[in-house]
Amino acid sequence: MTDALDLGEFHWMLAIVQSIDVGVVVFDRDYRVEVWNTFMENRSGRLPADARLQSFFSLFPEVEEQWFRHKVESVATLGTPSFTIWEQRPYLVRFKNYQPITGLEDFMYQNTTLLPLKATSGEIEHIGLIIYDVTDVAINRKRLQKANEELQWLSSTDRLTGLFNRGHWEERLRQEHLRHSRYGGRAALVMFDIDHFKRINDTYGHQAGDRVIRTVADVMRAGMRDTDVAGRYGGEEFALLLPDTDCRGAAMVAERLRQAVESLVVEYQEQDIRFTISLGVADLSLPTTTHAELIERADAALYRSKSAGRNRVTLQEC
Ligand code: GH3
Ligand code: MG
Ligand code: MG
Repeated sequence: MTDALDLGEFHWMLAIVQSIDVGVVVFDRDYRVEVWNTFMENRSGRLPADARLQSFFSLFPEVEEQWFRHKVESVATLGTPSFTIWEQRPYLVRFKNYQPITGLEDFMYQNTTLLPLKATSGEIEHIGLIIYDVTDVAINRKRLQKANEELQWLSSTDRLTGLFNRGHWEERLRQEHLRHSRYGGRAALVMFDIDHFKRINDTYGHQAGDRVIRTVADVMRAGMRDTDVAGRYGGEEFALLLPDTDCRGAAMVAERLRQAVESLVVEYQEQDIRFTISLGVADLSLPTTTHAELIERADAALYRSKSAGRNRVTLQEC
């Protein structure tokens, strides 16, 4: 460095390195520390005199040695810098996070740069490590992600039952229908509606009606596979999309649901509420141009169950 800069310039360069708000460490090819700026001193609590000539790995036992050596060696061999961002690794060295606004994590998120430092001979005898505190950025990004996930959940879920709401459920059906028209395979739909639900509301009150709806949703969830897609289609109307299932399979699922609901007793203010459901089943064995057609077919079957006396399963053209 003294070749390129005179001594005066060297001193003000040093002053900048000292006061800059990023960590600066220089170590030799044996990982012995030679430069340790004020940022490093403040964050680690170690004076430059105590860090100097210490092994980087003994100063930071948390650093994964094999990974770091590999990285440093390639920087030295190729003569090009290397960057690591917090998304890849939250931090290189574990520093406490003192930023009062965050509160989420107690460590400092870091981006780091490794620089090859050439000696006057042209050889790379030292490596410069720069540590950026990116805790603010990381925490904000994480908060945003979390908020987005919550928003996504809220906008796709029905509040009363926790099932998918109609909009999201229909979107899932549309995708399944699209998949089916491209790749074939099976898929079936069960739709059902609670019988004489108005009576439940009228007899026991709206709150009791809500409890009945929630309980039906629980029964539905308990009996379905992970790949099935359950939605609250309307007030007391439900829909269950069954991928990889034909009409027969769907009819069995529907019948099991019917029986489960029939034997259910919902307690409300020391009263026992019993009720039934009417179901309709359709599948994609017939050509359907839109997903809405499948809904119409299952719905038509459901209304046939109603007019045939309720508490039954009807299959539609399958
Ligand atoms: P059917 O056997 O023909 O289905 O008769 P039903 O009485 O169930 O008739 P219908 O399906 O038309 O009635 C739906 C009723 O459900 C009307 C509405 O007041 C009530 N309802 C819709 N959403 C809710 C809800 O979220 N909570 C409660 N408690 N009632 C609801
Ligand atoms: Mg009804
Ligand atoms: Mg209804």
